[in-house]
Amino acid sequence: MSSTSFQPVQGMPDIAPPDSSLWQRLESTAREVLALYGFAEIRTPILEHTRIFTRSIGDTTDVVQKEMYTFEDRGGRSLTLRPEGTAGVMRYVANAGPEALDARLYYLGPMFRSERTQAGRYRQFYQLGVEALGPPNPPVDAESIALQRHVLDAWGLSGSTLQLNTRGGTEDMRRVQEGLKQALGPLRERLCDSCKRRYDMNVLRILDCKDEQCRKLAETLPAIIDFMGDEATRYFDELLQCLERLEIPFTVNRTLVRGLDYYTHTIWEVLHPALGAQDSLSGGGRYHITMGNKKIEGVGFAMGLERIIVALRNVDLEAMESDERPDLFIVSHGREIVAENLLVAQLLRQKGVACRIDLSLRSIKAQMRAANRSGAPYALIRGELEMEKGLFLLKNMEDGSQEELVLADVLKKLGRTRDI
Ligand code: AMP
Repeated sequence: MSSTSFQPVQGMPDIAPPDSSLWQRLESTAREVLALYGFAEIRTPILEHTRIFTRSIGDTTDVVQKEMYTFEDRGGRSLTLRPEGTAGVMRYVANAGPEALDARLYYLGPMFRSERTQAGRYRQFYQLGVEALGPPNPPVDAESIALQRHVLDAWGLSGSTLQLNTRGGTEDMRRVQEGLKQALGPLRERLCDSCKRRYDMNVLRILDCKDEQCRKLAETLPAIIDFMGDEATRYFDELLQCLERLEIPFTVNRTLVRGLDYYTHTIWEVLHPALGAQDSLSGGGRYHITMGNKKIEGVGFAMGLERIIVALRNVDLEAMESDERPDLFIVSHGREIVAENLLVAQLLRQKGVACRIDLSLRSIKAQMRAANRSGAPYALIRGELEMEKGLFLLKNMEDGSQEELVLADVLKKLGRTRDI
């Protein structure tokens, strides 16, 4: 086998220590904040029937056309590794009872997109996603944005900006498409090849094109809100007022459209300057999805955790440093003592003491060096002599002082009484 056989699949990196503890902290902080808002976790399968995505995300979107990992299983069924989380949650809601139609759910897990990999763009990446189900209502959208802000603040991530726009109600979509087509008609030949196709298939996406020339043309177009009815404008205004009342800073970006077909009314994106070209930290919006004979409405957002970490590292390295030091390092003097000390380690761990023990039968000197390297504030040393007396030698690694104690006093000294 060549050495590359042992590399992970391109764009699908491992998340290993020491980084994994940072991931865990981000996840647990987010879970605490989500609980304050009444959101409960849902874990949907990573594989879904392909149609779950094609029907909800939209057949002509980039995600569906170019980025899905789709294959046939042994039974000839077309399955897809989820490229995003909303569709699976909607599939769950469509099958659940009517009470699920106003559920507040969140998910946290890997998504898969076969994209060209680069900094901040992976083929397996993690999203924290939130879905507040229920009919269109501006204060609910504002609450979702406020929740997102709260999570970012709880992570200590400053410097992000919020951009908002509206896609209008479902009935506005036709008018927007017609309006855009009319405005773009004379400019059609100047669009890039993809946008020439988009003109017929999904004209809204032209506003999203990264091509310089297309961008310039997009800037000359009327804002999509101008094609919408009064209701859409009222909805958007009410949302902006709510956000102002909540003192959440935002800018309205008239060309923001977001890639997927299911959005209606409010759409938003959170950007961060530390991310460079891939500056989207999170995307969100209100949606309207039809699954079978159920129409499901809600609002939600998804944040890419890899990008959150890049931004955090840029903003506040210290806040992200983790304290992996054990409370105690156990050193055994003599071969016979090791098993006895292992028992002590287990007892202490059950009391909540983060405890390392050197089981290598190395010299005391080597074990003490390991204790030092571990960063533990105390070393617990026990040899035959201490065994006979029923005592432990507790060494303070900072000032070098030591005292002989019974185990109960060691625990008191460490300040642990919690049973685990
Ligand atoms: P989207 O579902 O495309 O709106 O993406 C929502 C968020 O997921 C983005 O703002 C990113 O933070 C993250 N994201 C999307 N695609 C990728 C990717 N290929 N690699 C890493 N993060 C991604």
